[in-house]
Amino acid sequence: MPRPLRAHIHLAALRHNLARVRRAAPKARVLAVIKANGYGHGMLDVARALQDADGFAVLEIEEAKLLRAVGFRQDIVLLEGPFNGADLAGAERYRLSIVVHAREQLDMIESATRASKIDVFLKLNSGMNRLGFAPGYLRPALARLAACPNVGCITLMTHFANADVCAGVASQMACFQTLTEGLALPTSLANSAAVLRYPETHGDWIRPGLMLYGGSPFADTDSAALELRPAMTLQSEIIGLQQLQPGQRVGYGGCFEAVEAMRVAVVACGYGDGYPRHAPTGTPVRVEGQPSRLLGTVSMDMLCVDITHLPQAGVGSTVTLWGEGLPVEEVARCARTVNYELLCGLTQRVRLAASD
Ligand SMILES: *Cc1c(COP(=O)(O)O)cnc(C)c1O
Repeated sequence: MPRPLRAHIHLAALRHNLARVRRAAPKARVLAVIKANGYGHGMLDVARALQDADGFAVLEIEEAKLLRAVGFRQDIVLLEGPFNGADLAGAERYRLSIVVHAREQLDMIESATRASKIDVFLKLNSGMNRLGFAPGYLRPALARLAACPNVGCITLMTHFANADVCAGVASQMACFQTLTEGLALPTSLANSAAVLRYPETHGDWIRPGLMLYGGSPFADTDSAALELRPAMTLQSEIIGLQQLQPGQRVGYGGCFEAVEAMRVAVVACGYGDGYPRHAPTGTPVRVEGQPSRLLGTVSMDMLCVDITHLPQAGVGSTVTLWGEGLPVEEVARCARTVNYELLCGLTQRVRLAASD
């Protein structure tokens, strides 16, 4: 029998969150970001739930190929563009749009002979200093693309480093606007945080990821306050029980010591599943819907929780690690990471169970 650990994927929540995106940005087209296996939720199930999206954004040709193979006909954008000539050929074959963020990709496009035109998202580095043409190189890159018979529609794109924090988008917006002034081309700027907080960034194509999965991009605002619904509940069961006497310890390193008699439950979930090993004693969990807490060090396959106050709990009791009734943001905060990392960090051995 498989281990009782499941990531339940709530398809109705995904649809709700897409509707929330549309309410926030009614004029923009939605490029649903489904990279990293749909942020850990299962790319194809996510795409099916979000089939009303105007397009999908992924990283690799293989993801796009799979989407085409099962019948999606929307725009699909390769968020980092082609990594080599084969990707460019694949993009043409599967009718994908490509991000162009570097000179090497321009060279690639110019030297290719193509039967059809390829749509391009030309990326400006407006201050994040990750991908994109530096400000002085944007117009020359645009001129090269515009002169290239292989290129179809050109959308101007940038990505914000600080839309989720107080620094905000102002300086990057100013950079983008200055450089693209007078160009009658569509734009794509906003990630989830900008969709929610900065309507002036919406432009033609928004690129929400996290919020579609019900995650809050803001450290100071929970997803419920943003009217988002978590699309994943990570759940397992108690598979063992221990009775502790004062002075006895739990787990590797004996990091937790009982000061009184305790009942400890062993849960089938560990860092081998993507549960954060750095989650400390006290990190919230729910046992049969009741609040409880992690004890001691998370192991590869198991973790321990306190059920001293839950006499009815025993082997087979349901344990929620995050999701319904326990925001993933709370677990992320305890483990000193972010919801993004926990969601997309589920490992392959965690079974996904999608339903409405
Ligand atoms: C991942 C990604 C997004 C989505 O960001 P969220 O914060 O998850 O909304 C948008 N744009 C680009 C370029 C990305 O890589």
